[in-house]
Amino acid sequence: MSTIAKASLNAAQQQVLDQLGSTDRPVFDPALRAQLRHELDQAFEPMIPAIPKDEPLFVSKRSIGMVHSCEQLFVADKTEEFQWSVPIARGIVSHKAIELLVGYRGNPTPLELVESAIARLENDAYGPGDFLLGLDEGERAELVALANDRVTTFMETFPPLERNWRPVTESKVRAEFANGQIQLSGKIDLQLGYARGNEAGKVTIDLKTGRSHRTHIDDLRFYALIDTLKTGTPPRLLVSYYLEQGTPHTEAVTEDLLWTAARRTAEAIGRMVELQSEGVVPERTPSGACTFCPLRTSCEAGVAFLAERAQTA
Ligand code: SF4
Repeated sequence: MSTIAKASLNAAQQQVLDQLGSTDRPVFDPALRAQLRHELDQAFEPMIPAIPKDEPLFVSKRSIGMVHSCEQLFVADKTEEFQWSVPIARGIVSHKAIELLVGYRGNPTPLELVESAIARLENDAYGPGDFLLGLDEGERAELVALANDRVTTFMETFPPLERNWRPVTESKVRAEFANGQIQLSGKIDLQLGYARGNEAGKVTIDLKTGRSHRTHIDDLRFYALIDTLKTGTPPRLLVSYYLEQGTPHTEAVTEDLLWTAARRTAEAIGRMVELQSEGVVPERTPSGACTFCPLRTSCEAGVAFLAERAQTA
């Protein structure tokens, strides 16, 4: 995968290169794409009448994760107004800065990339533009410092992105079912490599700013599923890259993995549709997700969980 001289990499970068740069390229059945689509078509068919024609169901890794984690959180997230904060904006700014790194000429510093990312996001009507423009000088400085830390870590621990790896950042993937009534979509942080026919070659990378969690694997499997529905050839490797630790967690893509992702997706969407019906009461399942839940101060189960966790911490 690499033409980088070994001596130019530090130990962390070399570890990433060794883990991601395998030459093992599995070959997938060309019928897999149609088989997965057929399976999902069949699973979705009974759900379609319950989805309003003018309100397609948009499904993301986040919504699937929420409905599997706590149904009440999924419902609350749809109804409560989203609030930007500096820690939340840190993620989007860091990702944007890394996106810019791919195309930047010369040798930009992390701070230059972060400032450039913020300047672009300030003009984004659908993102955090208004929030960023409304920050006072102290808040803005805090955001720059937090994002600078993430980008610096990425540049220190990830090998420099070579153009012949075909790096793609913030790549959008989408799969539509039932004439667009159900839409699966995602934005992949970073992709390297490419398929050659049915021979897989792509590495799909999700950049993570917190601790490792089981759901991160499911997020990447969902992306692999959509990518397979899109192109027919799955990625060969899924990678959660933890910026704070500077380490990748990897999983090789197999057919079984894709079928598991398809079933998990269909189950989640089935429950999302049910939860839209009158009289269906969402279950409350306390977990680490309570920390970020908009109901964390009013939900009895969540309040008790967080209090107990604080005592044992
Ligand atoms: S506070 Fe926890 S248990 Fe309650 S709705 Fe939110 S995520 Fe679910």
